[in-house]
Amino acid sequence: MKRKVLGMVLATSMVAATLVGCGGGSGETAAPAAEAPAAEAEAPAAEAEAPAAEAEAPAADAEAEAPAAAASGNKVGVAMPTKDLQRWNQDGSNMQAELEAAGYEVDLQYASNDVATQVSQIENMINGGCSALVIASIDGESLTTVLESAKSAGIPVIAYDRLIMNSDAVSYYATFDNYMVGTKQGQYIVDALDLDNADGPFNMEITGGSPDDNNAKFFYQGAIDVLQPYMDAGKIVVPSGQIEFATVGTPAWSTETAQSRMENILSSNYSDGTNLDIALCSNDSTALGVENALAANYTGNYPVVTGQDCDIANVKNMIDGKQSMSIFKDTRTLASQVVKMVGQIMSGEEVEVNDTETYDNGTGVIPSYLCEPVFADVNNYKELLIDSGYYTEADLQ
Ligand code: BGC
Repeated sequence: MKRKVLGMVLATSMVAATLVGCGGGSGETAAPAAEAPAAEAEAPAAEAEAPAAEAEAPAADAEAEAPAAAASGNKVGVAMPTKDLQRWNQDGSNMQAELEAAGYEVDLQYASNDVATQVSQIENMINGGCSALVIASIDGESLTTVLESAKSAGIPVIAYDRLIMNSDAVSYYATFDNYMVGTKQGQYIVDALDLDNADGPFNMEITGGSPDDNNAKFFYQGAIDVLQPYMDAGKIVVPSGQIEFATVGTPAWSTETAQSRMENILSSNYSDGTNLDIALCSNDSTALGVENALAANYTGNYPVVTGQDCDIANVKNMIDGKQSMSIFKDTRTLASQVVKMVGQIMSGEEVEVNDTETYDNGTGVIPSYLCEPVFADVNNYKELLIDSGYYTEADLQ
């Protein structure tokens, strides 16, 4: 049974490899396994606020779809970037719960946002007998070498939420529609300020995501594509002049970096009483930094502030009027889809994807499954977040 499964995995990964085309290694050196850090040592600030959802693995669904392969106790490696951001804790717990409910053994690791740590964790997963890898990368460009070993060992790789670049070992990609995240943020701004009818000009500042995260460019571009006509018409202006993706990025999506950048922008451009009308922020961790900067350095009219992830701190800010919207990406949906993918890969079935055009990782287009993000604000958060069991009322107090 086991040999048959491995055969199917090999065959599947070879099919997947031909699907995604061939491409090049960039020659990085993988960190030695000895450097493997103790993932538990990480201080998970967000963990204290663990959401209700964690306890609620939709076991029934997963069990119903449990593939035959699961019965033979296959191990799946799940590599997550960090425990510092709430969303990855939820993603990791959901994946673990759902995979275990489907009968898999799970090796779940968090890498403290350190690339060498993640590389060494993945090496350990490969050497430790994992039959499939699910990886949310820290730096999408840095896994080429380690994934060559996964490919040689016939281990299929699913890129989770973030695309892994320049590796033909990546069989599939599952994420939320990242471009749509950006268009929803942009459209929220258009609607909130009634930009089709208002004259403006409205002052906007942009806080983007981490330049090494492929998603960040999609979020940015989606929002800018919606807002560009209003910028061209002079209804939106950017007083700092920082508009291009290269000038608005926030390495590692750091709240502190976003805060200090916005403090500089505010003191250089808004200290004379100029109003900031729009703070386009790509996600919640950066929005939090911007909100901190506004609280400390700004006395004008409060701007429309966008975000993404519905992190607890940001939903609380939404309720308090300090953030206008966030994007809700139900991590339970993504985890279920990925568990389904793992099952389909392991049992040699056709893998369900819904996008075979958008995500080229440098070796070819990676067949993808895109889940749909939705916007959340003070008017609909209860229905989206509490009624669905994602958070409890108490989580948000
Ligand atoms: C994810 C976002 C998240 C960001 C920072 C992105 O790759 O898609 O949901 O806010 O990383 O962790």
